[in-house]
Amino acid sequence: MKITKVEAFNLRVPIPKSQQHVSDFGVASAFQTALVKITLENGLSGWGEGRMSAGSIGNHQSICQYIENEIAPVITGMDSRNITLIWDTLYNGTRQHHALKYGHVFPVMSRRGITVSAISAIDIALWDLFGKSTGLPVHQLLGGKRADSFPAYGSGGWTDASHIGEEMSRYRDVGQFKTLKMRVGVQDGSAEISAARVAAARKALGPDIEICCDAHGTFTVSQAKTFCHLVRDLGVGWFEEPVAADDVRGMAEVRASTHIAISAGESASTRFEFRDLIEARAVDIVQPDPAICGGITETRKIAALCEAANLRFAPHLWTGAPAFSAGLHLLSASSAGFTVEFSLGANPLIHDLIEESFTVVNGKIDIPDRPGLGITVREDYVRKYSV
Ligand SMILES: [Mg+2]
Repeated sequence: MKITKVEAFNLRVPIPKSQQHVSDFGVASAFQTALVKITLENGLSGWGEGRMSAGSIGNHQSICQYIENEIAPVITGMDSRNITLIWDTLYNGTRQHHALKYGHVFPVMSRRGITVSAISAIDIALWDLFGKSTGLPVHQLLGGKRADSFPAYGSGGWTDASHIGEEMSRYRDVGQFKTLKMRVGVQDGSAEISAARVAAARKALGPDIEICCDAHGTFTVSQAKTFCHLVRDLGVGWFEEPVAADDVRGMAEVRASTHIAISAGESASTRFEFRDLIEARAVDIVQPDPAICGGITETRKIAALCEAANLRFAPHLWTGAPAFSAGLHLLSASSAGFTVEFSLGANPLIHDLIEESFTVVNGKIDIPDRPGLGITVREDYVRKYSV
């Protein structure tokens, strides 16, 4: 099936003041992302998503321009079912023939960052199309879902020690979550204040809810060690990005110093960076973002690395509906998948962009069974919020 049209949409959906939160990134005043729509010669269309950053905010115009000006001319006319060939062609560029001949990668120099995010968007849309054209959900194409539903963890937790208990209790009640994640790190000013907030959350939630902590990479190694020591008896499920993602050795040092599981991966892209992260023994839980790391094709390979290393796989999904759904399918089909991130900040691009709804019941979320990603994008919504 030939690709006839590739369109990119730079979305910016404002978040009402009453639903905004403040983190170390500032005020989450909008949710922004890049969407891709690929149309085939038979009229069928699929949707994908690529992201500038792992948070809510960021103008995605450059990804859209890259897709429309650089990628679209290359893949128009190609067979949409040859997903690996398209991925390799976009990654290797004009040297793809060398990659085919010699059996190893010849990436375009500096093929990282938004260029891989753009490939991610294309790749997710191709899997959506593959599923729609065969009438099968993406998870079936990946080997099938291992269960009908999987645990989801509620992701939020920005308020101070006197409010965090109420905030986390409210989250627990939204979907009867068994695991909740809260933010710590530089927003608190010290490891001691972060630990006091975790203690307050634990006091409010009681012993039965797992609390995970995410420092957004903002502690130093010694602050991270201090934090792990202070919360050692507070039932922390995992500690996410204790130090900057660029400091893989520092992360490995933190991991070696504590019994608390360390997680990371939302900043990394391609199987190569994840191989290095795993080989450095820096992580227990691997969190690739399908809209950043290279799409479904690349996340599947990263999940296989986790399986081989006996590490756990929990995709980062602070995204819109296409990447969120991609993460659900991937998690369900990987032997290492165990939980999925469910944003409890305002996220209109998960909930309002599509006709279906993702809901968490009794701490679990259903894996979509409709063809492709299993989502129906509301094109009027896309047009309304395209900038
Ligand atoms: Mg995170």
